[in-house]
Amino acid sequence: MANDFTYESKIPWKAERKANTLVIHCSAFDLRPYFADFAANGLKLAEYDLVAVPGGVQMLTVAHYIAKVRVLMRKWLGFLVEHHNLTKVVIIGHDDCSWYKDFRFGPIHIDLKQRQIADLKEVAAILREEMKVGVDIYFAHIKDNKVSFTRVS
Ligand SMILES: [Zn+2]
Repeated sequence: MANDFTYESKIPWKAERKANTLVIHCSAFDLRPYFADFAANGLKLAEYDLVAVPGGVQMLTVAHYIAKVRVLMRKWLGFLVEHHNLTKVVIIGHDDCSWYKDFRFGPIHIDLKQRQIADLKEVAAILREEMKVGVDIYFAHIKDNKVSFTRVS
């Protein structure tokens, strides 16, 4: 089987772009178009760096069960902030997150949304302290076949 597949994007390369914001959210496929819409039209971000992983910022919490993952993720974020001169981080949680529903490592009988908000606030404090960036927290609510984003802090 030949490896001769090539796809050439129709989007012209623009070398002179600059982002000052990093967006971190869950990698959930069903929310991805809404996260992108929110960043482009809600936050009016023309450009932004993106980290999308299951559960979003949960991996950065002290409670995360694999310390090496937490350390690696902080290294990635530190790299982006430093090398792209980022000044702002937007972290977004969302309703009905599969990662949190499957989260077996904390107390079992917890309010998931409450837990997510607490995690978002914990990570915001860590990022502000360690990376000296502004951090905005948002939460995506799914209701009546609509997705809305509200600012948490
Ligand atoms: Zn999720």
